[in-house]
Amino acid sequence: MVTDDKMTKKRQTRPRKHVPLRTCIVCRQQSDKRQLTRIVRNPDEGVIVDPTGKKNGRGAYLCTNPACWERAIKTQALERALKTTLTEVERDTLLQYRPDEVIPQ
Ligand SMILES: [Zn+2]
Repeated sequence: MVTDDKMTKKRQTRPRKHVPLRTCIVCRQQSDKRQLTRIVRNPDEGVIVDPTGKKNGRGAYLCTNPACWERAIKTQALERALKTTLTEVERDTLLQYRPDEVIPQ
């Protein structure tokens, strides 16, 4: 009986996954990208929330703390980060946005 030594070849330890960190533009807390919500200034759609993180444009990240959202919008931190001026509609949309809606359960 022949021993199949292919079966004994040692398994590679799983490569460590690269977890990109992003910084909340208000509280400067670094988190795993998935914990933060991306807001993007998209050439076609204006300033929008980008739950997929894949839209083109200049992006900024906010954590799930509603206080950070308010501050980002009311103190213009977001406008500075995106180098733009929010319209009334964009401002309202962002203020009404609940970041935890996009966290997959
Ligand atoms: Zn924050």
